[in-house]
Amino acid sequence: MYSKKIVTIVMLAVLVFNVIGPVQISHAAALDNVIGTLTASTVSSPDGGSNVFSKLFSLLFDKILGPILNIFGGGKAANSQAENPVKVTPLPSDGNTSIVDSGVLRGKVIIVDPGHGGSNPGAVANNTRETDNNLAVSLKLKDKLTKAGAKVVMTRESDRTVAPEGSSLGQELSARVNIAETNNADMFVSIHSNSNPDPSLYGAMTFYPSGKASKLALEVQNSIITQTGAVDKGTSPATFYVLRNTSMPSILVEMGFISNADEAKKLQEDSYRNKVAQGIFNGVVKYFTNQ
Ligand SMILES: [Zn+2]
Repeated sequence: MYSKKIVTIVMLAVLVFNVIGPVQISHAAALDNVIGTLTASTVSSPDGGSNVFSKLFSLLFDKILGPILNIFGGGKAANSQAENPVKVTPLPSDGNTSIVDSGVLRGKVIIVDPGHGGSNPGAVANNTRETDNNLAVSLKLKDKLTKAGAKVVMTRESDRTVAPEGSSLGQELSARVNIAETNNADMFVSIHSNSNPDPSLYGAMTFYPSGKASKLALEVQNSIITQTGAVDKGTSPATFYVLRNTSMPSILVEMGFISNADEAKKLQEDSYRNKVAQGIFNGVVKYFTNQ
């Protein structure tokens, strides 16, 4: 049959395209993911960490399908942005970008999780450390959410680990999830900076848990792009430990690539950090508004 042949050819083409295409998955978060997966069987895991097939499927989804989705989602723009103005995903109803009704946040418990800290600085490049950018934006986000009436719980508020220093990465990530679960949080927002061996890559992207709704990630991603004008690398499902093990809506924001000199510079600027925080805030408000 023709159709069988066509399907085979298309699948081969997609595989080849993916292999030669730029890797979009975050270096630092991918490390979290792999180690999180490895430690899943020793740290409490509600999805039954011993199922080898589900783990394999999750890894395949992240490493292959995730990057494919990003390639089709405009990720290639990062390589040729000088010539081609980057496509910015239009928002359906975003006439006013900075003023949003924040009444919906009253009483909501929101966990803000600045990635890394202490002995684990995360990605380090272009004279900036991931942990510092993550914390600075997280503190600004905390301010905005608190002023809007939310109850914000930070996993850390200084340059330190969340689990006792010297704990394994599995214990560190588990400590962050435990804060969300013991507070019966309505939302978990993890904030990271990206890194890639290819310094020409830049842009913001937002991950959500594999198999769960992408709505929160889409709202936050779109709002970050609106506020910052960053390259839109889209949203993608992922099996990062903190996404896989939190029971409430959760996202992991990769604000930009510190391996790219320009984006590293921006992420150290107070005004740019404020724009990123405002974007995340607006996305969170839109998510609760449309629930
Ligand atoms: Zn990170």
